[in-house]
Amino acid sequence: MPSEFYKGVELTSRHELAHEISKMRQIVDGIGVLSSCIESIWCDSKAGASYSVAVKPGKWRDALPDAIAASTYATGGYNAIYIEAEDDRSRILDADWPGDAMEMELLDAAEVVEAERVSQLQKGLLPNGFLDRLRAAIPLSEVVGRWVKWDARKSNFSKGDYWAACPFHDETTTSFHVDDQKGFYYCFGCHAKGDIITFVKDKQNLSMIQAVRRLAFAAGLDHELLPATPAPPTILQLKEVIVENFTKEHFLEVGIVTGWTNYIRSHDRLLRSLSWNDPDYAGNVLEMLAAMEARGDGSFAKLQEYIATTFSEQAHVVTQTAVFSAAKSVLGYQYTTPRNDIIGVMMPFQPSFGPVYDAIREACGDTPLPAKRADEVWTHSTVISDILELINHSAVVICDLTGRNENVFYELGIAHAWGKTVIPITQNAADVPFDLRHHRYLSYLNNGEGLKAMRRELGKRLTGLLGHSPDEF
Ligand SMILES: [Zn+2]
Repeated sequence: MPSEFYKGVELTSRHELAHEISKMRQIVDGIGVLSSCIESIWCDSKAGASYSVAVKPGKWRDALPDAIAASTYATGGYNAIYIEAEDDRSRILDADWPGDAMEMELLDAAEVVEAERVSQLQKGLLPNGFLDRLRAAIPLSEVVGRWVKWDARKSNFSKGDYWAACPFHDETTTSFHVDDQKGFYYCFGCHAKGDIITFVKDKQNLSMIQAVRRLAFAAGLDHELLPATPAPPTILQLKEVIVENFTKEHFLEVGIVTGWTNYIRSHDRLLRSLSWNDPDYAGNVLEMLAAMEARGDGSFAKLQEYIATTFSEQAHVVTQTAVFSAAKSVLGYQYTTPRNDIIGVMMPFQPSFGPVYDAIREACGDTPLPAKRADEVWTHSTVISDILELINHSAVVICDLTGRNENVFYELGIAHAWGKTVIPITQNAADVPFDLRHHRYLSYLNNGEGLKAMRRELGKRLTGLLGHSPDEF
């Protein structure tokens, strides 16, 4: 990077831009006599006019920051000035633009994001003010801190001012800024910006709703998002059973059991459409079910019970579905219809397992599905839901039982409970619990030859279950 000296100050332009050099000359001129205390100025206008100003050793003057800020502002504004000086005097001057142009731009972006979000989420999912409470519950720096290493020199932690190398683009400098008080981040390099929700969404490749759910879980607010009443499919299944089996007598019994005799008798079409076999009958049944569920007086549960005992054969499916989906909710994570589009890999995360995972990933490469590892997540309570989601959507779950790692065993238990196909692997057969030994586990040695053999054998098992990758021909 070429640089030049102007009045004894070394000026460097990151992108070798003549206009940056001329701006830095103006800054030196503006600072006046104090410029003799400055060693160098560095500028990066692509990062939105960011400057780094180094003060000569032993030449600190308290008037320097103001003088530097004022003369830089006079050249048209700046996003950040990093003043580098001895004795803990280094500091960052926050963005200052005439009319605070940059701040306005950020706020506009925030508003657009928020508007999009509300329209996406306004389907009864979010209670009022939920997003604000969510943002207040988890500091942005805590979440971002899982992906970056803070630049302790540039950051001012007590002020909620954090800097790091950007997690969204490749860089050696630290142009990623987190303002914990505003709850906003901005990268002066790639201009990535947003709040805690956009961060999780973009970083973990999620939909907005998934990101909100994940954060809600971390914040302990997830119970507010869960539906309080049984899901609609249960109603529809009950309707099927009633339409198939109910006589007038059944309705009268339901009236007695639930206390809804009045509704059932006074409904002008329900019993009538039943006896005349009218086409609106199913609709009338559904109307009653929806009314019962909405009332929340316990009648709906009583009806479920009545049907379960009266039509045990037909109702088996109905009650089992309801019970099963409630039991499948773990630690606040709501089990959903599996996508079966990944191969979940549960293993300890010590570095010695790195080559093991590489071998597993290669074996998965033989199939159409990618491997995904539940990585390091147990060190952060934030993301236990990540593991549950991973297991939920896995077509096959590979569990490395080596060393009897307790987290892997926990995950194995959930995978079994959710009916997943599990392939246990281990470096030591003694690590496989007795009652799992009838499963076909796969032993391997953690060395070059051993991993090659494991990769081959695992590849065979996986393709036996999942078929071959389309590009394997
Ligand atoms: Zn960036």
